[in-house]
Amino acid sequence: MSDKQDIQHKALRDKAEACLAPTSSGQPSVLHLQLLQELQVHQIELEMQNEELRQAHAALEASRDRYIDLYEFAPVGYLTLTAEGVIVDINLTGSKLLGIERKNLTHRRFARFVAEQDMDRWQRLFLRALADTDDERFGFDLLLKRGDGSVIYIHLDCQRHIGIGESSVLRIALTDITQLNQAEIDLRIAAIAFESQEGMFITDANQKILRVNAAYTKITGYTEAESIGKTPLLHRSGRHGADFYAVMWASINSTGAWRGEIWNRRKNGEVYPEWLTITAVKNNDDVVRHYVATLIDITQQKAATAQIEQLAFYDPLTNLPNRRLLKDRLHLAMASSTRSKQYGALLFIDLDNFKTLNDTLGHNMGDLLLQQVAQRLVSHVRAEDTAARLGGDEFVVMLEGLSQNAEEAAIHAEVSGKKMLAALNKTYWLADHEYRCTSSIGATLFIDHALTEDDLLKHVDIAMYQAKHAGRNTLRFFDQAMQSVLTERAALEVDLHLALKKNQFKLYYQLQATHTGHIVGAEILIRWEHPTRGMIAPIEFIPLAEETGLIVAIGLWELEMACAQLKVWEKHSQTNQLQLSVNVCARQLHQADFVERVHAVLEKTAINPSRLKLELTESMVLHDIDDTIIKMQALKALGLRFSMDDFGTGYSSLSYLTQLPLDQLKIDQSFVHNLGLKSADAIVVQTIIGMAKNLGIEVIAEGVETEMQRAFLEANSCQLIQGYLFSKPVPLEAFERLLIPIISA
Ligand code: C2E
Ligand code: CA
Ligand code: CA
Repeated sequence: MSDKQDIQHKALRDKAEACLAPTSSGQPSVLHLQLLQELQVHQIELEMQNEELRQAHAALEASRDRYIDLYEFAPVGYLTLTAEGVIVDINLTGSKLLGIERKNLTHRRFARFVAEQDMDRWQRLFLRALADTDDERFGFDLLLKRGDGSVIYIHLDCQRHIGIGESSVLRIALTDITQLNQAEIDLRIAAIAFESQEGMFITDANQKILRVNAAYTKITGYTEAESIGKTPLLHRSGRHGADFYAVMWASINSTGAWRGEIWNRRKNGEVYPEWLTITAVKNNDDVVRHYVATLIDITQQKAATAQIEQLAFYDPLTNLPNRRLLKDRLHLAMASSTRSKQYGALLFIDLDNFKTLNDTLGHNMGDLLLQQVAQRLVSHVRAEDTAARLGGDEFVVMLEGLSQNAEEAAIHAEVSGKKMLAALNKTYWLADHEYRCTSSIGATLFIDHALTEDDLLKHVDIAMYQAKHAGRNTLRFFDQAMQSVLTERAALEVDLHLALKKNQFKLYYQLQATHTGHIVGAEILIRWEHPTRGMIAPIEFIPLAEETGLIVAIGLWELEMACAQLKVWEKHSQTNQLQLSVNVCARQLHQADFVERVHAVLEKTAINPSRLKLELTESMVLHDIDDTIIKMQALKALGLRFSMDDFGTGYSSLSYLTQLPLDQLKIDQSFVHNLGLKSADAIVVQTIIGMAKNLGIEVIAEGVETEMQRAFLEANSCQLIQGYLFSKPVPLEAFERLLIPIISA
C-alpha cells in the first residue's frame, strides 16, 4: 500500500471512529451508516488495485524470461568485450559457436579464439570498433578457431557502448557464415571452371541444351542463343553410324559417363575431331537430371600426332617408310605369310658409287638422286608391297604373297629385282647434270616367323655385299653357308677385342738351325688360347686382327715380348747369339708411327738390335713400295734385320729386291714340300738360293719335314733350316729345353 493510500485510509478510519462513537440515544446515526458504506467501497477499490499490481508484476517476469530466452538462444552469438578485449558476457549461442562452455569463456581474451592468420586484422579492427564514435554498427568477417581446433568463418557486428564508469564496452553479434562462404567459393569455382578453356554445355535430362560456355561457342561456332533448347544433334558430322552413338549411350547409362574421340561439325560446316566427355548428373534419388559435356578441339593435336608419326615412321627426304616402319610391316607380312603359306621377299638395294657422287657433285645432288631412286622404286612395286629407305643410299623393297613354292617365289623376286636394276640404271637428271649409276641388290625369301626381322635384314644386307663383290649391277640371293662363316667371324671378332687384355695370346718358338743342328734362333709364331674354342691358329685370326686394326697393338706386344726375351738371353754366353724373327703385317708396317714405335721398344729394352729380325712378305712390300723402302731403311739404320718371308710365291722381281735392305730370303714351304715331287719346284728352290748368293744375303728354307728335303737343301747350299724335322713351334720353356744340347756342348 502506498503512502498516499495509507493517509487516505487513516483519515477515513478516524472519521469512522468519530461517527461510531455512541450517540446519546445509544443508536447508530445516519452518518454512521454512510461512513461504513464508504469504507466498504474503498476496501473493494484497494483490492482491485492490488490485483492490477500483481498482474503487472507477473507480466514483467514473463517478459524477462522471454528476453533471456531470446538472448541465450538467439540464432546469432552475442558477446560483450571490455576495452581490453576481455569477454564479460556471452550468450549460449556464442559459447556454442566457439565450442567452449560459457563459464570457461568469461574473463578470457577474445583474441585467443581468433585464427592465427586473422590475428593482425582482428587487432586492427577491434581498436577501430572501440574508437568508433558514430552509432553506426561496424561489421567484418573473421576466422575463429573453436575449442576443438576447427575453424569457422564468422561475421562480426560490433557496437560500442559506454559502460559503467565511462569505460567503453563492445557488444558484438557473431553470425556463422562458414557454410555460406563455402557455398560462395564453390559457386565461384564452378563459374570459373565453366568458363574454362574447354568447351562445355549442360543439358537437361532430355538432352536439351540449357547452358553453354564461351569456349563452346568458339569451338562449335554456335552462340548460346543458337544452342539453348537444341539437342547436341546440332553438332553431328554424319561420320559416325548409329552403332557409335549406341555404344556411347550404353556407357553413359551404365557407368554414368563416356569419353572419346568424335567427329563433329562446326556451324560453318567444317568437320573436326574433338575429345568429348559426357557425364550424367543425378539427384539424390539417382535420377538423371542433367548431362554435362566438355569438349576439346583436337584438330591441331591430331595434326601434330600425324606429323610425329610421319617423322617417326617415314624418311623425310623421300617420304618412304623408314627402317622402323619397314620392320613393322615385315612383322605383319611374316604373320600373313604364316597364314597364306606364301613366300615373301626382301630386296636390299644399294647404289653403286653413291659416295663418289656425293663427294664430287655435293650432297644436294645426292639428295636429288635419292629422291628419284625412291620414285622409281615406288613405281616398280605393287600397291601392297613396301619400298623403304633405311638411310644413306640403302633401300629395301618388300614383296608379299609371291608363291607357295620357294623356287617360284625366288624367280618372281629375281624378275622384280632385275626390273628394278634396269629402272635404276636409266639416266637421271640431277638439276642440269645428266647422271647414270648402277645398283647392287641382295635378296632373300621369307616365310612365317622362322627368322626375326633383324635376321632377315642382315641376310639381305650380306647378299647385297655379295652382289657388290660379284662386280656390282647384279642381284644375289642370300646363301646360308656364307652366313655361317660371317656369323662365326663376327663372334670371333668380339672376343678378339678382349684377347690381348685378357692375356690370351701365347707365343710359340720354332727353331732355326744349321744342318749340323746348331740353333741360330727362332721364329716367333702366335697362338690364341681361346677360353672356349681352345687353341686358335694364327691363320684364323691374324687376317681378322689386320682388318680390324687390332694387329697394331698385338704386333707391338709381340715385339716387346721378343725384345724382353732377347734381353734375358743376352745375359748368358750360351744364348746371347740367338736371333728372333717376328712376323710383321702390312697394316703394322704402314702405320705412320711404326718406326718410332719399334725404336721406342728397342730403346726401352736396350737389346742388340741385330738379334731381332722382322719378316715381311712380298705382297705387303709391294703394296706401297716407296713407304716400305723408307721405313725399312730407317729401321735398318737402327740395326734391325729383315727377312723376306714366303719367298717365291709373289712377284719376285729382281728390280725391287735390290732396292730393299734385306738380310735374308725365306724359301716358301710350298716349294720345300714339293722337293722330290715336282721337279719344277726343285729348280725354283735352286734359283732362290742362287739369287740370295748373288745378292749377298742369307737364305733359309721353312717347312722342312723330311731328311730328303734337308739333304737337298744342304746339297744346294741353303745353310739354314726351319721345319718339323727339327721342331714344331713350341712354348718358350720347351724351346729352351731344345737349347740344352747346345748349352751343354
Ligand atoms: P709363316 O710366317 O709362313 O709361318 C710358318 C708357318 O708354317 C707356321 O704356321 C708354322 O707353324 C708352319 N710350319 C713350320 N714348320 C712347318 C713344317 O715343317 N711343316 C708344316 N706343314 N708347317 C710348318 P703358323 O704358326 O700356323 O702360322 C701361320 C701363319 O700365320 C704364318 O706364316 C704367319 O703368316 C702368320 N703368323 C703366325 N704367327 C704370327 C705372328 O706372331 N704375327 C703375325 N703377324 N703373323 C703370324
Ligand atoms: Ca714367317
Ligand atoms: Ca712363311
